[in-house]
Amino acid sequence: MAVAALPFTEEQIKRYSRHIILPQIGGKGQRKLLQSRVLLVGAGGLGSPSALYLAAAGVGKLGIVDFDVVDLSNLQRQVLHHGHDVGRPKVVSAADTIADINPDVQVVKHQVRLSSENIMDIISDYDVVVDGCDNFPTRYLVNDACVMGKRPNVHGSIFLFEGQATVFLPGQGCYRCLYPEPPPPGMVPSCQEAGVLGVLPGIVGLIQAVETVKIVLGIGRSLTNRLLLFDALAMEFRQVRLKRNPNCPVCGDNPTVTHLIDYEEFCGLPHRDHADGA
Ligand SMILES: [Zn+2]
Repeated sequence: MAVAALPFTEEQIKRYSRHIILPQIGGKGQRKLLQSRVLLVGAGGLGSPSALYLAAAGVGKLGIVDFDVVDLSNLQRQVLHHGHDVGRPKVVSAADTIADINPDVQVVKHQVRLSSENIMDIISDYDVVVDGCDNFPTRYLVNDACVMGKRPNVHGSIFLFEGQATVFLPGQGCYRCLYPEPPPPGMVPSCQEAGVLGVLPGIVGLIQAVETVKIVLGIGRSLTNRLLLFDALAMEFRQVRLKRNPNCPVCGDNPTVTHLIDYEEFCGLPHRDHADGA
């Protein structure tokens, strides 16, 4: 990313002063953040905390993909949205909240259902993809598109009282290296069916936000090749080493998945909300 020496306004110097005084960030790093373009897949449980903090940190362009509307049952964990947003599109509610936090942030509302038809066009406008979706068809679609489009994929997922997060950098493995194929439809219940601790996506979504900021700034040691597992009931973090699988169907030496797959249609699942962010 080229960083032009744009002067900060007085307000920006004050707003970002706690970043600017950090030697690892400084004015140069803050400009990188302001010029960065991050796509959030889902404005739900995981996307909410990520969006709030990425906006506050001064990520210049935040794309949000979500075609759902805010439901009262979302407010238990989806902290981007408020009581008066019930019934409004999540991308609209998200944009309003973010505008209040930081007017420097350009929010791009993608109120669409991600598919093999539109995902490459969408991700091509962004430097980093944060996957906060809550369903397997979207997760595999985002994974494959990030591999094919060479975009870092900051992964997070939650279930009941447990969460996991990792980072897939281009050429260094992907979600299919871990789980080559999605489970058959109906085998894994969604959060709607199984429940989830409301605070849990706050932790996991913010781990994703930290990793995203580190990727943009090029600092620290990323979660690449490590899967971080969090158990809220035991209050324990564990790590599992990951490495690229040469037999991976999409990023392996002889890939068999060479075009994007819409698993929902392929599997004939009944219509279900996409990118709800758990
Ligand atoms: Zn892979």
